[in-house]
This record gives sequence, structure tokens and C-alpha cells, in this order.
Amino acid sequence: MPAERHVYHNSEHYKHKGWIDDEGQPWDVPERLYGIINELLSDTIPTEWVVVPEVHKETYAIVSKLHSPVMIQAIYETGLQATDNNPLKSPYDRDTETNASAIYPGTFEQALFSAEASLAAADALLNDEEKRLTIAVSRPPGHHAGREFYHGFCFFNNAAVAAEAFKEAGKRVAILDFDVHHGDGIQDIFQDESEVLYVSLHADPNEIFPHTGHADETGIGEGEGTILNLPFPIGISNEEYFELLARAQEKIKSFGADYLIIEAGFDGHTREWPGLPPLTHLDDQEYAEIGDRLGHMNMRTLVIMGGGYNHDVTPGAFASFVRGFETGANIRDAEVYTSESTLPE
Ligand SMILES: [Zn+2]
Repeated sequence: MPAERHVYHNSEHYKHKGWIDDEGQPWDVPERLYGIINELLSDTIPTEWVVVPEVHKETYAIVSKLHSPVMIQAIYETGLQATDNNPLKSPYDRDTETNASAIYPGTFEQALFSAEASLAAADALLNDEEKRLTIAVSRPPGHHAGREFYHGFCFFNNAAVAAEAFKEAGKRVAILDFDVHHGDGIQDIFQDESEVLYVSLHADPNEIFPHTGHADETGIGEGEGTILNLPFPIGISNEEYFELLARAQEKIKSFGADYLIIEAGFDGHTREWPGLPPLTHLDDQEYAEIGDRLGHMNMRTLVIMGGGYNHDVTPGAFASFVRGFETGANIRDAEVYTSESTLPE
């Protein structure tokens, strides 16, 4: 039976040490990946696991095009000065207060490997008409990396690298970002050009990091109209959330994109922060429903792993989303995953 799920992954993704805050809360750490991989492995759907072999020159070329040479060099050189016990910050780290995006020896290469996974998954869609969904499960993440800044655990912008590859192949591409934080890096990179649409659903930027992504940020110059920010109040109801999702889908359709990239972040999950007021009421069932609705769009789609830091929650949410997408796109039989959602149509 031919593989129906295509996952792009590499052991390099486990090497960047990431960040545990002063209270002992782990954020983007290697353990984030284990649960997701285990959850995907537990499925019976025929799966192709692509071990991303190396960083190709094409990846480096795109990274060098999207990010400024001085920032790339600074990340590289900071890694040479850092030690495993003493990670360092470069001048392009916008976060001046925490070590969230501190650089270790090897971080430069590991960030390139993460971008490589996204590019390999994008190339697979471009080169094989049969593939309708590819999934990059990698870290460090990327959507907070802009042309000349980075923060929020990110260094190089994985989604933007993939989008650039589609663009260079002459395709129109839309990025849908449902991580609970605005992808300021993606917006920064593409806001002044017309071929890439960026649509983001995120919690109120007046309240949470990175404090960008207001509704009136719609693109600049030739890119006017190619940014759609759909910020929502903290604690948004599921009904309102799905109305915003429908607006996002309409925009993607009217843009006429050939390909869809999904920055899939689960840090808005209603159980992400036990003891704190939830940012949304989205649980696994709703993430499956989001997947189902996006799968129904029948677009050739690349899913890239975004945020989600609760190891008890993210794996189930990620897999639910993927299963929902596969059901909606008719990649798998509905009886394997049946939506019990009572959400509005
Ligand atoms: Zn996030």
C-alpha cells in the first residue's frame, strides 16, 4: 500500500537545548518532539518517514535571502563563543530579558536543519503530484524570526523558507498560522510582496507576545492586502474562533493560492496552562475539526510544527489535527477518525 502520510524529521531536531525558565517550566525543549512522534507512530495509516539527510545548499541560499547576512553571521559566531553551560545572545535577539532564544554551540546548524525539514517537505509537494499533505516535525521553530531579528525560541523562519521555495517555483502560496502567537517573523519577511499570503489567528497582541499582528497590519506597498491578521480576545468561544477560521479560509480561497502552508501551533490549547485562564477553549476535538475544515479545502498542504509546550497536551492535539486534516481531505477513511463535533457548520 502506498504511504498516505509523509513525515519529515531528523535526529538533529533533538539537539538544540532550548529553554527552561527560572520557574522550571520547559519551553521549546527536545522532549517536545518525542510525544508527537510517538503519537504519530501509534497510527496505523501507512506512513513514509523521511529522515532529512543534510542541509542542502538550496536551503542555505533561501535562508540567506530571507534573513540578513549580518544576522546569520551573528548567530553563527555567537555559537562559536557559547558553551553548553553558557549559551549566549546575539545583538539580533529581540528578547533582551530572557534566554528563550539563547544560542548554544550547534544551534546554527540545528536551526538550518529545522528549515531543511520544511524545505524538503515543500519540495516533496512540488515534485510529486500524488502527495497532497507533507508534515515537517522539527525544532527549533521559526515564525518569530524576521529579516533582521529573532526571538521566541526561533532563529530561521521555517515556514518562510518553504513559502519562498513555492514562490521561486512560480506558485502562489498561502500561509495559515494558528499558533496562539502572531508570526511576526513571517509578516516581516513577506509583508511588502504580492505572491505570498499570510493569515494568522492569534490571541490579542495587546495582551500577549510578540505584541504585533493587529487587524490594521495588512501589508505594505505591493504587499497591501496580503496580510490578514485575525486577533481574538483571550478566552474566545469556540463558535467565534470557527467564525474567524472561516474568514481565514475565504481569504485563502480568494487569493487563489496553489499551495497551503500551515504553521500548526497548539499553545492556545485550553489545557496548555493548567491553573491559568485558558487563551482559547480549543481541545483535541476542536483541533481535529480545524484539521477537517482545512482538509476540506482540497489544497496541497505542508504542515509545519509551531508552538505547544505542555508535553501532556501537544502530542494529542497535533495528532488530532493531522487525523482531522486527513479525514477532511479524504486521505484516510472517516471511520478511522470520526468527528463528534457539535460545532457550527
Ligand atoms: Zn506560540
